[in-house]
Amino acid sequence: MSSDHKIKTTVVHAGTEPEPRTGAIMTPIFLTSTYVQEAPGVHKGYDYSRADNPTREAHEKALTQIERGATHALAFASGLAAEQAILQTLNSGDRVIVCDDVYGGTGRLFRRLFAKYNIDFQFVDMSDINLVKKTATPNTKLIWVESPTNPTMKVIDIGVMSQIAKSVGARLVVDNTFASPIFQSPLLMGADIVIHSSTKYIGGHSDMIGGALMVADKALFTELKFVQFAAGAVPSPFESFMFLRSIKTLGIRMEQHAKNAMVVAEFLENHPKVKNVFYPGLKSHPQYELAKKQMSGFSGMLSFDLKGDYDAVLKFLKKLKIFALAESLGGVESLVNHPEKMTHASVPEELRKKLGIGPNMLRLSIGIEDSSDLIADLMQALS
Ligand SMILES: *Cc1c(COP(=O)(O)O)cnc(C)c1O
Repeated sequence: MSSDHKIKTTVVHAGTEPEPRTGAIMTPIFLTSTYVQEAPGVHKGYDYSRADNPTREAHEKALTQIERGATHALAFASGLAAEQAILQTLNSGDRVIVCDDVYGGTGRLFRRLFAKYNIDFQFVDMSDINLVKKTATPNTKLIWVESPTNPTMKVIDIGVMSQIAKSVGARLVVDNTFASPIFQSPLLMGADIVIHSSTKYIGGHSDMIGGALMVADKALFTELKFVQFAAGAVPSPFESFMFLRSIKTLGIRMEQHAKNAMVVAEFLENHPKVKNVFYPGLKSHPQYELAKKQMSGFSGMLSFDLKGDYDAVLKFLKKLKIFALAESLGGVESLVNHPEKMTHASVPEELRKKLGIGPNMLRLSIGIEDSSDLIADLMQALS
């Protein structure tokens, strides 16, 4: 697909071409580990499926096409496997600056696994630009941003982070999972690597686990491709097919997620039993202007604090009929999550308190149902 198509057209056609032998319009699932060679080392470009597989190749081509500014992409078995591949380019003694309310699993990967290889992770509040500037040194190899963040929906200035990264020779990594490729294009704002947990919006149907890295530089791609090949955290051809099927509706799904989330955010903001609503699309959001500048839509994630005690929270959760109590996000069905006890249970308690993740906070992943049904469900559960 040429890049001058609109994104909703690109996602429908990305990566796939009719299969040459049969004309099959969808890329087949090439369930094979190895490939027959004509003579030693003489083959059709595939020798072993950890290295290359035709279904994954279509998957990675599609990833390149859907993330604006990308020239290359790599698919992984999960979002965290994709993150791990980035960390595996580092050396002992390197430093990484991370936003303090990074996804819980990312924080765990850093604190529990990679910190023991003497990589220094500095968790800072990235809405404080001067703090990031002060923390960055020539030893800083990565600046790791998530925006909007989870679950407090802070918006981080990707352009400014890119300038700080460049000033110390570090790479800027942006986890773009919450915004999806539809609403935010970090590579066009100076990011070096974009991450997606394809498990979320890209997959969109709560039926697969996957991860992706997109870059705009051939040498960086080659470095990461080597890690993918040498460490082997690749998705199966079946998952690659699931991905190719999923992204065709990514454009219309994101439009509906964002439309519904705006309606729900406004409803909650005006409800007497709700204290704070965190959604970058609300004018009351402290970084609304920045969100408007760097996102073309506000996506489908929001959080809020319920008034009352923890018992009131439990009652509210019990009464919900459409919203399912579950971890994860970005699927077509609406979910509710209790960050303190679920997704963010692995975040150190002190940090959780500092971030404002308390017993009364709930996070909603707004699905693509009819928004009037979502409002009715919330209304009866709040009553
Ligand atoms: C889920 C998630 C991840 C991890 O992805 P997995 O596919 O679960 O490994 C990373 N970052 C963000 C923002 C996520 O929501």
